[in-house]
Amino acid sequence: MHEEDDLFGPNTLAIRTGHERTHEGEHSEPIFLTSSFVYKNAQEAANKFQGKESGNVYSRFTNPTVAVFEKRLAVLCGGERAVATGSGMGAILAIMMAYLKAGDHVICSRDVFGSIVGLFERYIRKFGVEVDFVDLTDLAQWKNLAKPNTKMFFMESPSNPLAVIGDIQAIADIAHQHNALLVVDNTFCTPALQQPIKFGADLIVYSATKYIDGQGRALGGAVVGKHDLLEDVFSVVRTLGPSMSPFNAWVFLKGLETLNLRMKAHCEGALQIAQWLNQHEKVSKVYYSGLETHPGHELAKKQQSGFGGIVSFEVKGGKDEAWKVIDSTTFISITGNLGDVKSTITHPATTTHGKLSAQAQKDAGIDESLIRLSVGLEDIHDIIRDLSRGLDLI
Ligand SMILES: *Cc1c(COP(=O)(O)O)cnc(C)c1O
Repeated sequence: MHEEDDLFGPNTLAIRTGHERTHEGEHSEPIFLTSSFVYKNAQEAANKFQGKESGNVYSRFTNPTVAVFEKRLAVLCGGERAVATGSGMGAILAIMMAYLKAGDHVICSRDVFGSIVGLFERYIRKFGVEVDFVDLTDLAQWKNLAKPNTKMFFMESPSNPLAVIGDIQAIADIAHQHNALLVVDNTFCTPALQQPIKFGADLIVYSATKYIDGQGRALGGAVVGKHDLLEDVFSVVRTLGPSMSPFNAWVFLKGLETLNLRMKAHCEGALQIAQWLNQHEKVSKVYYSGLETHPGHELAKKQQSGFGGIVSFEVKGGKDEAWKVIDSTTFISITGNLGDVKSTITHPATTTHGKLSAQAQKDAGIDESLIRLSVGLEDIHDIIRDLSRGLDLI
């Protein structure tokens, strides 16, 4: 197919982009599990090493299976190019290494994945880069902290675990007024629900480990954006080595084929669960942007084509009551991972956000009674029954 033909819809692109059939005539995309590539002669080897001739050299640089995943993801995101990495954190590190140097300044939303805060505080600062954290929804803070050496804004929307929605267009405008890049972590929505490039974001980052795989098998990540910006990320990945395994790339490119369908089903299930929790007498608060009472509901409707699969809620009581609900489940998996066909349940205050001080947890709105649920694709009435077991005991 010709992917540049913009008549193709997103499902066709997700299923057909990137694979050029080899002489074997295979139907499914092959896995090129090879670390290096061979040449017809010494001249060809010399040309390829010197970049005079294009082609594969070594799988830390390029690999045909990884390339199919990259092409597919870039097309689905409305981006020109994607670079795959060994994990979501590897993708974020590659962006930092590509665009920041000593003396630069970054503004980052406080509501980002926990390890990203650790990456900035413990490592990026060590190399002389200043970092300020701001409230995702407080545009005045983004504006007021920007200064001449500000090179990058970093945000995630919806946030984890409280589903705070950030205004991508407004934050992109502020970043661009200061000649800074806006990086958006789009792991929760995936390109199936949100395309930050349409709202002015420069670089999109993914943990493919979550919904893109969708079945909890492999670690991976990617950066998506314009061609020239991505060349710097590619250069970092091929030199520093956080490259994606061809086997994992194959898992993810197959995941992309069903991503639209799965995300639609995750959204439908999550909305039903959120509505059920919202009227439950043992539940004091539900965080899901699909509920009209959620403060980010209108913005989510503008930016996203669905509200996502993560529902967080507070139970009446504290840690003991939250743990009772978690421990009373019989099939929902007690695990920190999310974005799986299997529903997963987490107590953020003692796991994903457990390293924060009591005050920092309070500032982040992480109450001891809070539970995060990643709604899987099991039957909704079964998920409701599993949650009811503990809620009925409180
Ligand atoms: C999991 C996650 C990451 C990190 O990805 P890994 O694949 O675990 O390295 C980054 N951002 C978000 C939003 C995540 O959920």
